[in-house]
Amino acid sequence: MKAYVAGKPILSTTDWPSNVCCVVFFVGCNLRCRFCFNTPLLEFDEKFHVDLDQIYQEIEASRFLIDGVLVTGGEPTLQHDSLRAIAQWTHEQNLMFGLMTNGTKPSIIQQLLDANLIDYIAVDIKTVPNTTEYAQITQIKQEILPEIKKTIAILKSSNVRYEFRTTLVPSLVHHETQLRKILDWVGPNHYVLQAFRPTDTVLDPKLNASFSNEELDKFRKFAHENNLVTRF
Ligand code: SF4
Repeated sequence: MKAYVAGKPILSTTDWPSNVCCVVFFVGCNLRCRFCFNTPLLEFDEKFHVDLDQIYQEIEASRFLIDGVLVTGGEPTLQHDSLRAIAQWTHEQNLMFGLMTNGTKPSIIQQLLDANLIDYIAVDIKTVPNTTEYAQITQIKQEILPEIKKTIAILKSSNVRYEFRTTLVPSLVHHETQLRKILDWVGPNHYVLQAFRPTDTVLDPKLNASFSNEELDKFRKFAHENNLVTRF
């Protein structure tokens, strides 16, 4: 089976908390988040179309260093057959399988959970649960919030290990009131804050500022008061 995958899997000690994993980058995304820095991965391009056996060989080279395989993107659920295939192969190797997703395909996530193929899942929560604000960040017209709400409900009623993650972005996602609304939505457990860092590949070039140390400290204080995890 083939899949749209960018580059070779990379070893990571940070993307899957407490685990070492191989990260595989599935190409193609249904959103266009202004702060996205994976812009070369957003379009399905034939140059990325590879045989999954090639990916498996590359993972096998690190087999004895890793606890699992983590697929991210792009949005991996858009290639659901390939995603299922790599999840199955991973479990056949007695490795754990993790997924990072924007949460817009709850039916795919449910199918993978029903088949016991996911050991860890991280869902990006872009902003507050408001259609206008979500559209401002994701730059798409389709209504996706109901789907993301379904994904959140699926994970909360499952036994899978999961995380919701929000990227703090200067001028976009930066108010404590926004964070409180997201907290009311997803709950304080399993919620992680990370911070945007400008790069050359950010989709919206106007987003070229970082938070100051004082601003980051304010977010850390907020996280501490609300028992949240920070990764910055
Ligand atoms: S940041 Fe947004 S546009 Fe970029 S890969 Fe993730 S969901 Fe897609």
